Amino acid sequence: MAEPDASVLDAVASALREARLVVVATGAGMSRESGIPTFRDALTGLWARFDPAELATEDAFRRAPARVFGWYLWRRKVVRAAVPHAGYDAVVALERFVPHVVVVTQNVDGLHRRAGSGRVLELHGSLERFHCLAARHAYPAEAVAEPLEDGEVEPPACPHCGSPIRPGVVWFGELLPEREVAAAWEAAARCGVMLVVGTSGLVHPAAALPRIARDAGAMVVEVNPEPSDLSSLATVVCRGPAGAVLPALVARLEGPA
Ligand SMILES: [Zn+2]
Repeated sequence: MAEPDASVLDAVASALREARLVVVATGAGMSRESGIPTFRDALTGLWARFDPAELATEDAFRRAPARVFGWYLWRRKVVRAAVPHAGYDAVVALERFVPHVVVVTQNVDGLHRRAGSGRVLELHGSLERFHCLAARHAYPAEAVAEPLEDGEVEPPACPHCGSPIRPGVVWFGELLPEREVAAAWEAAARCGVMLVVGTSGLVHPAAALPRIARDAGAMVVEVNPEPSDLSSLATVVCRGPAGAVLPALVARLEGPA
């Protein structure tokens, strides 16, 4: 795989060595490198005839709960079969060199947690969490069995209030989880380095994070194989896949300073 300039990686590695807090902000590109389809790509096979906007809203769930629930269980199955790539391990390894590492992700696949990252803020929720529609009572993910085949699955009823159980993800028209957003904003304002990985400028309001970090004096590093809307804002651009760039950075931290 192509690797960015050694001098660029050296500069980022030395900023990482100095930093007290590093934020790693990840988007769909990070997941795609592990073979996880993006939100829109996830409409294949049986699901190809639907529009994501027809499946990822509260309205859609109220109208066709079994269809929406089945789609999310199918996506969870795809994610469970995927293996986190070397970039995820590199994010975990960063914790050995930096006092505080905060991962802020727009992805719902839970791969950062599975890889072993300690502090992960999932701004769009997770396919591994469920709660009821009416009162947001938490529902254990283990209690939601994997269906034998893809298709509609009737959601279980909440044991507390009887309301249907829904996926713990943020749907169109919903606000991001307040606590996670506040923690992400605070980390962005305090970090020494922000690595922005596999995202084409981030979806609003998460798109504000790199700007907050840069305005507060952090080094903002774009890690992406393609140029994006973020490139002009970034202090440093590491052009390449996360699975190559992040391990290369960690290798430098492991080597002599
Ligand atoms: Zn409930």
